[in-house]
Amino acid sequence: MPRNRRYDVLFEPVRIGPKVAKNRFYQVPHASGMTNAAPHARAAFRGMKAEGGWGVVCTGACSVAPSSDDSPFPFATMWDETDVRSHALMTEAVHAHGALAGVELWHGGAAAVNRTSRVAPLSPSGVPWMATHVGFMSAQRPKVMDAHDIRDLIRWHADAAVMAERAGFDILYVYAGMGYLPYQFLLSDYNKRTDAYGGSVANRVRLVAELIDAVREATHGRCAVALRISMQELRARHSEVAESEGHEVVGLLRDAPDLFDVKMDYSAYDCSPSRFTAEGTHEPVISFMKQVTDRPVVGVGRFTSPDTMAGMVRRGVLDLIGGARPSIADPFLPAKIDEGREEDIRECIGCNICISSWHDGVWVRCTQNPTAGEEWRRRWHPEVVARDGKGQTLVVGGGPAGLEAALTLARRGHDVVLAEAASEFGGRLLYETALPGLRQWGRVADYRLGQLRKLPNVSLYTESRLDADAVRDFGAAEVVIATGARWMASLCGANELPTSPLDAPRVYTPDDLAAGVVPEGPVAVFDFDNYYLGSAVAEALAGALGGVLGGGGAQITYITTAGTAGAWAFMTNEQPGINAALAARGVAVRTLEIVTGFDGEMLSLAQIFSGAPARIAARSLVIVGQRAGGSALYDALAETVHDFGVHLTGDALAPGAIAHAVYQAHRTAREVGKDKELPRRDAPFAMRDIARAAE
Ligand code: ADP
Ligand code: SF4
Repeated sequence: MPRNRRYDVLFEPVRIGPKVAKNRFYQVPHASGMTNAAPHARAAFRGMKAEGGWGVVCTGACSVAPSSDDSPFPFATMWDETDVRSHALMTEAVHAHGALAGVELWHGGAAAVNRTSRVAPLSPSGVPWMATHVGFMSAQRPKVMDAHDIRDLIRWHADAAVMAERAGFDILYVYAGMGYLPYQFLLSDYNKRTDAYGGSVANRVRLVAELIDAVREATHGRCAVALRISMQELRARHSEVAESEGHEVVGLLRDAPDLFDVKMDYSAYDCSPSRFTAEGTHEPVISFMKQVTDRPVVGVGRFTSPDTMAGMVRRGVLDLIGGARPSIADPFLPAKIDEGREEDIRECIGCNICISSWHDGVWVRCTQNPTAGEEWRRRWHPEVVARDGKGQTLVVGGGPAGLEAALTLARRGHDVVLAEAASEFGGRLLYETALPGLRQWGRVADYRLGQLRKLPNVSLYTESRLDADAVRDFGAAEVVIATGARWMASLCGANELPTSPLDAPRVYTPDDLAAGVVPEGPVAVFDFDNYYLGSAVAEALAGALGGVLGGGGAQITYITTAGTAGAWAFMTNEQPGINAALAARGVAVRTLEIVTGFDGEMLSLAQIFSGAPARIAARSLVIVGQRAGGSALYDALAETVHDFGVHLTGDALAPGAIAHAVYQAHRTAREVGKDKELPRRDAPFAMRDIARAAE
């Protein structure tokens, strides 16, 4: 199909200093978890986006010196020749498809507490960054940089720039955002210096200007120099001479870099979850940039709609459409717009499983794109599956796993029949996407159903609950069972191990609520799953049952074994929003407690450490604890000998986040009828490789 003319603007080339991007699709630097220890995996991950049409593809934060050590978070380095070799694989992969390659030269300062290198962290004035924030917490505080340290920092950037150019990068970043060292110089809260680098805004900007100059001079103007800068705090600060300190800073630097990459300051706002924010929410903070500078500006906002992207350019907000999550969920987003196939875009759902991977210290994972991170290790392509399948395959269960399995099997050439017991496809998503803020997660089912309905070799059946006899009678050559998991109505002990099921009236699980049960209030929600569902259920019930009852206190009480509501959702940046939403809905939150008993009227609680008891009134108890996988259907089929293959997958295989179910199902579908392939193991370059190559 030809490209829609409305989107032509997105395919215009953009000059960035000495380089030209072939279009406006710009994959901004983002964490992939792939450090220099996995150079082939990283190259394939980034190269896939270039293949998918992104005009610029950047690698993630790349430390310029051992005094910027983010461990245990994964980070790349640009310290020596082994690093040059490692990154060169990525730039080659990106250049092979006509895209520019960018690198985010990075010094974390006080935000990187050097757990491995044990060098004293650097900072303008000794003020720590988020030192009491679980995940970043450290007993180490930063030292105050002296003039010698500042000269070192500039030199490290220049040296790293020289290596980056040798590695083949076209765009070199100076990174003054997200709490990292140059950012801390910009903000008076962190910068209390009385020398030429502190005090006035002009003085606080000095270091950033000198870093930009150093990077440009080191590469003799051959590479483009980008400034990545966070604007949330600066924009909120008063200035005597401009609309805000943000305006003043950008005004002073307006001609310094070849490109401004502008973002928010805190991960939860910068990479904000769809549960609490919509597409394009950075705009009010960054919209002024192009009024102050003529240099091209790139920004993000979880853009998946080409109309929103084209609007950003036409309205003069951005020159380049930044993508991190949308490029992970669909590396081929630009190509699909170019080919007039917008409806084929695998839209990011804003769940932030990808950022949780970085918090976990592992390679990137994506709910929508199960091939993310597997491009090299398993040789998975997000758009292409070898057409090596034949014969009929029956998929039982049409949740995220069943839909993914059916789609991948159909792409392999199998004749696929998908049977779902319910009247609609979607599985757990049918209930969960009706909860506050979770509507966009429905894209997991929508994308797959949209693709399945286009394929001639797929038959879709709802209201088709199959038992073992029905499966046997069907006569398929292969059977994939994706029948999901069940929530258990069990409490847990202080050690969080589940106890036996609770025998009391009005004890429910999310499965009961999904089936239409409306609990009688007051309701207690006991969450020891500690991801999103417990808080989302509490929020929904507070909305449905009226929130705070006049004079009677909160009608919904949320109880968690953890220290905060939605504890694991820290990993997905949802935790601040969860706590704000529960407060806004009048939900009473009780932390560090277990439920020890319930008789239909009163709930007994115990403090998890001291055992101190408490009692609260409740007519209903909703337990969001553990899920049980397994499948009676699979077990029944396994008992008898048959001439078809049976494969258990998704939550039925091992209950988990939707991302896990989709991944398992993708893998199952790739492997049906084939020998399992072992994943490849990546390895870093070592000095001896360099020495050998030089011989
Ligand atoms: P997953 O995340 O693994 O896809 P879900 O619980 O979301 O798991 O989806 C499982 C789906 O399987 C549900 O839609 C459920 O209705 C369906 N299902 C369960 N048992 C059967 C069965 N025997 N026949 C057909 N569909 C089934
Ligand atoms: Fe988007 Fe979720 Fe994939 Fe991240 S993991 S790219 S938020 S769909």
